[in-house]
Amino acid sequence: MAFTLEFQGATGEVTGSLYVVRAGEHTVLLECGLVQGGKTAERRNEEPFPFAVGEIDAVILSHAHIDHSGRVPLLFKRGFAGPVYAQNATRALCAIMLPDSGYLNEKDAEWENKRRRQRGEAFVEPLYTRSEAEASLALFESYAYGESFEAVPGLTVTFHDAGHILGSSIVELRYVEEGRQRVLVLSGDLGYRDAPVMNPPARLKRADAVLMESTYGDRLHRPFDETIEELSELFESARAAQGNILVPSFTVGRTQDILYLFAEHARRWNLSRWHIFLDSPMGIDATRVYGHYRHLYGANLFGPTSNLPDLDNFHMTESTEESMVINGIQSGAIVIAGSGMCSGGRIHHHLKHNIWRPECHLVIVGYQAHGTLGRRIVDGAEEIRLWGETYPVRARVHTIGGLSAHADQQDLVDWYGAFANRPPVYLVHGEERAQTPLARELRDRLAAPVHVPELGQAIAI
Ligand SMILES: [Zn+2]
Ligand SMILES: [Zn+2]
Repeated sequence: MAFTLEFQGATGEVTGSLYVVRAGEHTVLLECGLVQGGKTAERRNEEPFPFAVGEIDAVILSHAHIDHSGRVPLLFKRGFAGPVYAQNATRALCAIMLPDSGYLNEKDAEWENKRRRQRGEAFVEPLYTRSEAEASLALFESYAYGESFEAVPGLTVTFHDAGHILGSSIVELRYVEEGRQRVLVLSGDLGYRDAPVMNPPARLKRADAVLMESTYGDRLHRPFDETIEELSELFESARAAQGNILVPSFTVGRTQDILYLFAEHARRWNLSRWHIFLDSPMGIDATRVYGHYRHLYGANLFGPTSNLPDLDNFHMTESTEESMVINGIQSGAIVIAGSGMCSGGRIHHHLKHNIWRPECHLVIVGYQAHGTLGRRIVDGAEEIRLWGETYPVRARVHTIGGLSAHADQQDLVDWYGAFANRPPVYLVHGEERAQTPLARELRDRLAAPVHVPELGQAIAI
C-alpha cells in the first residue's frame, strides 16, 4: 500500500539532507542533517520541521557528517524520543561531532547576542546546546555492516559500506506489505574509487528506487598518481618560498586521508623538513576513533606500535595555548585545521596570520559549499574579512580535486550501473550544475530513468 518518500532537504544543494519515509502506519526520517553554507542559508535550520515531530518513529543516518546528522539534537530538543539508527562507527563519531556542533551553536548565539545587546535587541537562543547534543546521544542504537534490523514494523534496514568516511553507509530499506517487498536504497555519500584509506563502496544489485548523491556529478577527479605528483611540486615550491602551508580540512575523513598520505609519501615529499600540526581537538578525537575501528578500512593509517600516524615532527595541538604557538611560526609549518570550508574554527586564526603572505600556500582538499569563506577564496576573492578586519588574499591557493572523499561522475555512473534492473534514480546532495551533466550521462550511457527532485516532492516506491 503505502511506501513513500518526501524530499525535505538536499535537493539542488549539498547540505541539509532530510527525507521522510512513510511505511504503512509508520514514519521514519532518513538523515537529519544541518543546512550549511553561510548565515542566510543556515537560518533555515531554525524553521519548524516540515512534519510533526510526534509522528516520527525513528531516524536512520547514513554517516556522521553534520550535513547528514546535525539536526538530530534539534529534533530531540523539539520532543523526539528515539531511536536513531546508525552504523557502529557512525555512532562513535556522532558522539564527538554533535556535541561540537552544539558548542559552535552556543558560540554563534553568544556572538550574535553581544551585537544585539549593543543595539538593545532581543536575544537569540542557540539552535541547540552542547548538553542537548550530548543528551541526544542516548537515543542512538547501532549496528555493524550487513547486520539487518527492523526499524519499524515491516521495514528492515541494512547498512553497507559506502567508502566515504569511517562508518559511512549505503542504506538499504526493505518494506514488506501484504507479501510484497519494495526496496529503497539511499547511497549516502559515496567514496572515491582511489580513496587512500576507505574501501570502495559496496555495490547493490536490486532496488525499486535509488536516491543517489551527486556532489561531483559534473567532474572527473584527476588520476591519483597525478595528485601525488601535484602535492610533491607543491611541497617543493612551498619549501623554496619559505612560508607555511594551511590545509583547511573536514575533521572526519579528509584529515585521516591526509595524515595517511603524509605518512605514506613522507620521503618523497621530504616532509621531515616540515613541522606538521593537527590543530583540531575534534580531528584528534576522530583520529582516535579511526584507531578503534581499523577493521572497517584497508589502509594502515597508524604506525606499527602506536595509535598515531607514523610521521616525524608531528604535533597534535589540543589546547588553545598550543594552537596559539603556531601563530608565531613564519616558515616550515603545515597546519591541518578545521573547519573544512573555512566557515569557522581554528583555521580562521591561521588564515589571519598567513593568507596575506605571498610565500604561504592554502591547500583546498574538500568540497566548498556555496556561501562559505572557502568557496569565496576558491572562486578568486581578492580579500577576505575575519573578525571585522580585511585581509588581502596573497597566499597561493591550490585546489587538489583528486583528494576528494566523494565519488566522481564515473564512480557514480558505475555505482548506479550495478543495479541490473535500472530502477528510477533520484539525484540528491548536489548542485544543479553537477546534477544536469550527471543526469545526461546516466540517461545516455545506461538508459536510466533519472529524476532531479524538488524540495517537498513526494514519490511512491
Ligand atoms: Zn559526508
Ligand atoms: Zn554529505
